Amino acid sequence: MQPDPGAAGPPRPLPELDAWNRAFWTGGAGGRLLIARCGDCGYWIHPPGPICPRCHSREVAPQPVSGRGRLLTFTVNHQPWHPAFPPPYVIALVELEEQPLLRLVSNVVDCDPDSVRLGMPLEVRFEPVEDVHIPLFRPLAAG
Ligand code: ZN
Repeated sequence: MQPDPGAAGPPRPLPELDAWNRAFWTGGAGGRLLIARCGDCGYWIHPPGPICPRCHSREVAPQPVSGRGRLLTFTVNHQPWHPAFPPPYVIALVELEEQPLLRLVSNVVDCDPDSVRLGMPLEVRFEPVEDVHIPLFRPLAAG
């Protein structure tokens, strides 16, 4: 039975996919975090777009990254803003290890929000919802 998108709504709000962000939101199906990268100068670009902001090349295409990064800043939300996100949960700005300022907004999961610390190493894991795989981050396993 097909879910009726107009009925109860999705379990969490989903991104609108377009030509530029589709790889980012669906790459998790293959277990990889895909980030747009300039084919001419190698600059990583997020949010993805058609033009490299550094060299203005249009040779931009998604490439896999390691999925590792560190916690740049975060907030613990205690308000029940959305039924799909029972509080408390961690809203995080994660800097990927590939490049300074290569940042994305996500959630830190699989840990006690009280244990979250600035700078902590993280790794991506994906939450499949319908046809997207939402990149979330968990503490990087030691060793
Ligand atoms: Zn470039």
